[in-house]
Amino acid sequence: MKPTIGITCDFAAGERPPFAGEEPTLYLRARYVRAVEFHGGIPLLLPIVSRLPLIRALLERIDGLLLTGSGPDINPELYGEQPRFPFPIMSPERSQFELDLARRALRQRCPILGICGGMQLLNVVSGGTLIQDVAHEVPGALEHRQKGGELSHSVRVVRESLLYRILKRTTFKTNSFHHQAIRKVGSGFRISARSTDGVIEGIERSSGPFVLGVQWHPEYLLSQRESRTIFLAFLKAARGRGRASGD
Ligand code: MN
Repeated sequence: MKPTIGITCDFAAGERPPFAGEEPTLYLRARYVRAVEFHGGIPLLLPIVSRLPLIRALLERIDGLLLTGSGPDINPELYGEQPRFPFPIMSPERSQFELDLARRALRQRCPILGICGGMQLLNVVSGGTLIQDVAHEVPGALEHRQKGGELSHSVRVVRESLLYRILKRTTFKTNSFHHQAIRKVGSGFRISARSTDGVIEGIERSSGPFVLGVQWHPEYLLSQRESRTIFLAFLKAARGRGRASGD
């Protein structure tokens, strides 16, 4: 049985993408869909809805949840801070939907893979906080906004972690397209990996089913063994879960 993977979309209310003009628009980089398809899952794009019964109904139709990254940042007010830098902020429609969705998916023990901003959202919904700008707030930080090329910096995987159990490697190279990072790890989560400057690059739930967040974008690196292994482990967990049964 192929597991059905719900994938979150981004939302624009006028500023982009350009073809949509002023019309509120859902959109998603197709690599996320291709990665799920390539590894044997059924990708299902999740529309942004606001009513909780609808969110519950969407979760009942999926076996695993892929929380995707986003151009704009999660509003720092959602983790109790004022924005300190003039970065674009994620639309309230998307952030509210994803927080409700992620909270409920965690409660229902739904397997989750959070990528980049999706990992940051998992952390915020669990009571964690973010570094608003790595370049300003982490002395001696590496460049985490790579300009070109496939790979950027190395990550070191924590030995006693889900990530190590699935990859069986302690060091490998990733890409890096972020300026925020996790500061305080959310409740029930632990660190899976850091880059060599100490920036947190992966988190996971300390117990229970597969819930993993990675700060890099494995969907861009499908020829890399580590990326494929992460998707395969996520899909295996989704396949093994059986369908959600409410909470
Ligand atoms: Mn990075």
